[in-house]
Amino acid sequence: MLVTRIVVEKGRAIGVEIVDRPGGEKKILRAEREVIVSSGAIGSPKLLMQSGIGPADHLKSVGVTPVHDLPGVGSNMQDHLDLFVIAECTGDHTYDNYAKLHRTAWAGLQYLLLKKGPVASSLFETGGFWYADPTAASPDIQFHLGLGSGIEAGVEKLKNPGVTLNSAFLRPRSRGTVRLKSADPADHPLIDPNYWSDPYDRAMSIRGLRLAREIMRQKALAPYVLREVLPGPSLASDDELFDYACRSSKTDHHPVGTCRMGHDDMAVVTPDLRLRGVEGLRVCDASVMPRIPSSNTNAPTIMVGEKGADLILGREPLPPAVFSGNRAA
Ligand SMILES: Cc1cc2nc3c(=O)[nH]c(=O)nc-3n(C[C@H](O)[C@H](O)[C@H](O)COP(=O)(O)OP(=O)(O)OC[C@H]3O[C@@H](n4cnc5c(N)ncnc54)[C@H](O)[C@@H]3O)c2cc1C
Repeated sequence: MLVTRIVVEKGRAIGVEIVDRPGGEKKILRAEREVIVSSGAIGSPKLLMQSGIGPADHLKSVGVTPVHDLPGVGSNMQDHLDLFVIAECTGDHTYDNYAKLHRTAWAGLQYLLLKKGPVASSLFETGGFWYADPTAASPDIQFHLGLGSGIEAGVEKLKNPGVTLNSAFLRPRSRGTVRLKSADPADHPLIDPNYWSDPYDRAMSIRGLRLAREIMRQKALAPYVLREVLPGPSLASDDELFDYACRSSKTDHHPVGTCRMGHDDMAVVTPDLRLRGVEGLRVCDASVMPRIPSSNTNAPTIMVGEKGADLILGREPLPPAVFSGNRAA
């Protein structure tokens, strides 16, 4: 089921238009109280813009009639960018060995019978946080260790067993956009994360990559790590690592911020998640976050959902939490 449009009448969202498949017959579902958009940081701005809610100039340029000019829709996109070190390993310490047919079959059987073994693994079993910017009040680099090479799409697979150590800079200052390619809801949107448009992000990411490299070169890992394959020992300068990152970095799948909450002209929703300027419409997902959390994004998004549910039900807010110790800058 695809929602193709939020139906707005006289400044109020009264329902959604849906199709059961792209190009299928359209139906209108009417909402008795409110329409809640939770299509994610890419899907929510797309749906709003398809419905004529967004930057009017952009909407007109792709043939959508503006219903409500809201310039912030689709702006303020933030994401974490992963840079990675891949190393070749000794012996049987990574899951790459299971890429052989007989071992894959055994792993499948082991899981079916005993509910354990490689199939039960998240593959990224180890993580950690550290500082790229020494003045940061709390860690700004996150490491994920993948016990294999080529585990994720676009990441190099080695011939011999390997491991992948990802490093992501967690407080990017760059801001990207989500825009419509056309007025056709079946078209994918145009996503421009605009990574590293702020030079600070590039500098911190490269420091994170150097830290990942240093971890893999530790004496304690020497019995297991044969050699660094990527970026490769010959790449040493910041410029060389930058070129490597341009070829080899990837999204950490953490897009947020494209329907940001706030009170200013570029805000899309108010702090109670109501869309500014259209009645009966809220957005409740990762898109409302003003700034990307310095962590993975699933748990914070669940918190947005929980808070959103309380707001919709009119429940009293929880008392504010009292923090001690370091606070993020
Ligand atoms: C490959 C991958 C791995 C990830 N790994 C982790 C992880 O390990 N830990 C972590 O914390 N976070 C992880 N994340 C991030 C996490 O999944 C997201 O931050 C979180 O799911 C965001 O939730 P959301 O509700 O905002 O959006 P989503 O979870 O994206 O939900 C939006 C939903 O809306 C639907 N939708 C969109 N448009 C329409 C439409 N027009 N009509 C009908 N339905 C529509 C989508 O199909 C989707 O089901 C990962 C993300 C990806 C993609």
